[in-house]
Amino acid sequence: MESVAEQVPMYIGGLAVPAHDGAVLRTFEPATRRHLADVPSGGPEDVRRAVAAAREAFDEGPWPRMPARERARLLRAAAERLAGEAAEFARLEVRDNGATLRKARGADVPGAAAAFEWSAWWAEHVPEREAGGGGSYVLWRPAGVVAAIVPWNLPLLLAAWRIAPAIAAGNTCVIKPASFASLSVLRLVRLLHECGLPPGVVNVVTGPGAVAGESLVRAPGVDLVAFTGSDETGEAVRQGAASAGTSTRLDLGGKSPNLVLADADLAQAVTGVTWGAFLHNGQVCMAGTRAVVHAAVHDEFVRLLVERVGRLRLGDPLDEATDLGPLVSRSQARTARRFTELGLSQGAQLACGGGSPAAGELPEGLDPAAYFRPTVLTSVGERDAVAQEEIFGPVLSVIRAADDEEAVRIANGTRYRLSAGVWSADPARARAVAERLRADRVWVNDYRLVDLELPGRAGRGASAVWDRLTNELDSYRRRHTVHGGGGEEEGRPAGPPTPYALLGG
Ligand code: NDP
Repeated sequence: MESVAEQVPMYIGGLAVPAHDGAVLRTFEPATRRHLADVPSGGPEDVRRAVAAAREAFDEGPWPRMPARERARLLRAAAERLAGEAAEFARLEVRDNGATLRKARGADVPGAAAAFEWSAWWAEHVPEREAGGGGSYVLWRPAGVVAAIVPWNLPLLLAAWRIAPAIAAGNTCVIKPASFASLSVLRLVRLLHECGLPPGVVNVVTGPGAVAGESLVRAPGVDLVAFTGSDETGEAVRQGAASAGTSTRLDLGGKSPNLVLADADLAQAVTGVTWGAFLHNGQVCMAGTRAVVHAAVHDEFVRLLVERVGRLRLGDPLDEATDLGPLVSRSQARTARRFTELGLSQGAQLACGGGSPAAGELPEGLDPAAYFRPTVLTSVGERDAVAQEEIFGPVLSVIRAADDEEAVRIANGTRYRLSAGVWSADPARARAVAERLRADRVWVNDYRLVDLELPGRAGRGASAVWDRLTNELDSYRRRHTVHGGGGEEEGRPAGPPTPYALLGG
């Protein structure tokens, strides 16, 4: 295999640096297995330096102290640069994690630019000071040094949604991208520095999660760990951060259901369920990987679904006509196969898919072992592994339900609480079902159009997903209450008698 890889540095204290011991991680293009780049394999010493740089930038640097509108100016410049370099960022994401060009161009890069644009708006409009009664007031202060750890499925988008609100609120941060896909995050951090971000405000350390990630979670000097990833790692992060006395914000996995009721428009439901389950090969936290279908329409729904899924085009992710590219790695395709086989061994039926394409079925140069056909399993039992575990691959489990009551019970029967869809021609019936689902976001006759003005994080179960915009910002801020110091300029009447609590007897 010919190597055309470049060496990409990480950023600590505004400087482009290798790992202090020179170690590197090799990054491969999933579609072709070509060696794409080498990134630093950071360890505890790199993390220590990055946290020290972020700490210094927070404690002594200009960023947390500058007026919010100045921070907003830099965030807008970043949004403009991202939009201007959209084509390059999109191609990089495609080559690094196997996203299709259509998705990278249509969602990932614009979504990342929007994170900076909107965070700039909040920085200017969300008050940093609120008046209380009797001259008291509350200051909203940045949390401090934020350690952000992101997964490989949407590297640029998720990094932008961690960095932008955090720095808009005046924090500094250290970000650790996933080992499979870190190039777009490294390029984003380079872009921020080119826009004039002061040194140390955003630092990036690449390297294995078990080394760089764990050191970061436990590092003294970090005030908040914002982790996005699997439940299992999330639990390790929760414990590691707790041992260091650091608070966490965890955005974890999902096993979301789509409920197809007896009166659903089946053509519409099939389209929604198909894209809900198979967008980005199901490598999305909110993927609707369970279809809970009323018995009266089950067989017809499955027939239409299999026909629709059969028309999805696997191919070169850089080709605009491709619906599904490779998974992020051969190992992720093996995970999809392992779960499919487990499902079949527990009694499920294979309706379509079930394996990688044969050699010769894909355009020349693509690696079939990194691909997995979109797979539909029927006759799945609600307690089967494929109905309970997040596979993070293109495997959809169809579960039959006798009525709405049973559909709700099945839908609520996993440990996840991320999102859900309800398909019905009757708005009242759909609402009655939607309101009983234990999910932070529920769609009716749609899947995935997120209204960011509405809350999406209830903190229940093992999952969480993007929240209302202002809540996003608030998760990187802390209240600082000053009793009685504001005086008349606070502009609020003393109000009802204050319910004082006497502390300390
Ligand atoms: P992982 O949990 O395996 O990894 C996530 C990140 O954590 C990576 O950067 C990883 O580094 C790092 N990491 C691994 N081990 C540790 C450790 N011990 N301490 C600290 N950090 C560590 O998740 P995946 O990358 O496989 O991503 C898929 C998961 O992310 C799915 O469960 C998905 O549902 C979830 N997700 C949730 C979202 C949400 O908003 N709720 C959004 C997107 C994804 P390395 O890559 O080097 O191992």
